[in-house]
Amino acid sequence: MPGKIIIAGAGPTGIGAAHRLKESGYNNWIIHERHDYVGGLSASFKDSEGFTWDVGGHVLFSHYEKFDRMVDEALGSNYLEHLRESWINIFKSWVPYPFQNNLRYLPREILHECLTGLFRANLNSHRKADNFAQWALYTFGQGIYKYFMLPYNKKVWATDLEKMSKDWISERVSVIDFERVLKNVILERDDVSWGPNNKFRFPLNGGTGEIFRQIASRFKDHLHYNKDINWIDTESKKIGCCDGSSETYDVLISTIPLDQLIKRIKNKPDRIVKLAQKLTANSGLIIGIGFSRPDPSKKCWMYFPENRSPCYRVTYFSNYSPRNVPEINNNFSLMGEISYPKETQLPANKAIEKTLEGFIKTGLIAESDRDRVKSVYTIDIDYSYPVPTLDRDNALNTLHPWLESHNIYSRGRFGSWKYEIGNMDHSVMQGVEIVDRILKDKKETVISL
Ligand SMILES: Cc1cc2nc3c(=O)[nH]c(=O)nc-3n(C[C@H](O)[C@H](O)[C@H](O)COP(=O)(O)OP(=O)(O)OC[C@H]3O[C@@H](n4cnc5c(N)ncnc54)[C@H](O)[C@@H]3O)c2cc1C
Repeated sequence: MPGKIIIAGAGPTGIGAAHRLKESGYNNWIIHERHDYVGGLSASFKDSEGFTWDVGGHVLFSHYEKFDRMVDEALGSNYLEHLRESWINIFKSWVPYPFQNNLRYLPREILHECLTGLFRANLNSHRKADNFAQWALYTFGQGIYKYFMLPYNKKVWATDLEKMSKDWISERVSVIDFERVLKNVILERDDVSWGPNNKFRFPLNGGTGEIFRQIASRFKDHLHYNKDINWIDTESKKIGCCDGSSETYDVLISTIPLDQLIKRIKNKPDRIVKLAQKLTANSGLIIGIGFSRPDPSKKCWMYFPENRSPCYRVTYFSNYSPRNVPEINNNFSLMGEISYPKETQLPANKAIEKTLEGFIKTGLIAESDRDRVKSVYTIDIDYSYPVPTLDRDNALNTLHPWLESHNIYSRGRFGSWKYEIGNMDHSVMQGVEIVDRILKDKKETVISL
């Protein structure tokens, strides 16, 4: 038996690990969470006006039966099912998502430029890309790259695309079939079904965070709130928290952002410090705005590659559940997401005004709706997206084995630092699988190190 297991963080990864420990009948474990709530980046909050907000638009979809079963157990029948209604706002109109499959909505000259670019890209399909920028240009051609891939991804990542690798892409970006694109244009056909999230569930009550609140309610006695782990001694196998408490562990499952975890470890070699410094993340500002009028739109979420809006994505959050607003017949809510480089600041008051301006410029609301703003709620996220930079994997290939040699398993969105397995389902399953590895020596499948 592995002895005492401490889980650092009660986000989806920590909750996944805890659920598995409970299910396995193993008792010698606790979770330390620095906040007074569970869910991490997948938590939800109700504001003083009665609007519920997620930390950015969270869409629940799954690659794993186990995760589906956990969600079933957590929500029972208290969920709604939606068909994705996702759009791109560009050239003052709306193109259905994925952009590259629905080019017919573009102005004729732009459509021509995109098709020619794509045709030429196909002719040169032997070119090998060294980074994400090149990959996007070589795959989609000059037009789609210029009007959508480049500006949209720059907004999301707040990072130069040349500094990003292309190895994370797989199902995160819809790649392209030229014949299909042409057929869609000529036959004037919409092509909106691509991707793993074209159908999704959403909790009826309490936002996305409700899933994790419900699961965590089954192991309340193991869960310790307001425990911010601020040092780890790998020699004595001890952790210490900001409240002055300390305790020993045999195994540490950490979901703390990997660079922060390394900072907190005493006596680490310089090479480990240097590698951790190579990890790049961006920050994000979520701006929820509740309006005191209903809205007939059926849209789920929308992408904004152009700079008429500061947001890269906006969600009609009241369309996810009517209970996300105080009274659905009289209110609706929009939630905007803005990324910014981690080392910079984004003052919320300026961002709120720019977001409202963006809503007006892109036709989501009218100027007169400014008087109907009933609630404004912001969430500043220090760690939003783990950026797949060119030297990320090199760093991870040393950092994880070094940690594991000290019985520390760093998992989850920022624990593993792998965006491509950084969604809720991946994170929960990373938690489940690390427990199976620790207790039963089973091989992990979600993460490959
Ligand atoms: C803007 C945005 C949109 C997203 N959209 C989607 C989506 O549509 N679908 C989807 O599936 N996923 C989405 N995600 C990803 C989802 O939020 C993550 O997959 C998930 O929350 C990661 O879980 P985690 O437990 O690994 O990390 P986190 O959620 O970050 O949880 C880590 C936990 O550790 C705690 N912690 C940190 N440091 C310490 C410390 N020193 N001591 C104690 N506790 C600590 C934190 O407080 C937190 O509770 C989105 C994320 C963002 C940012």
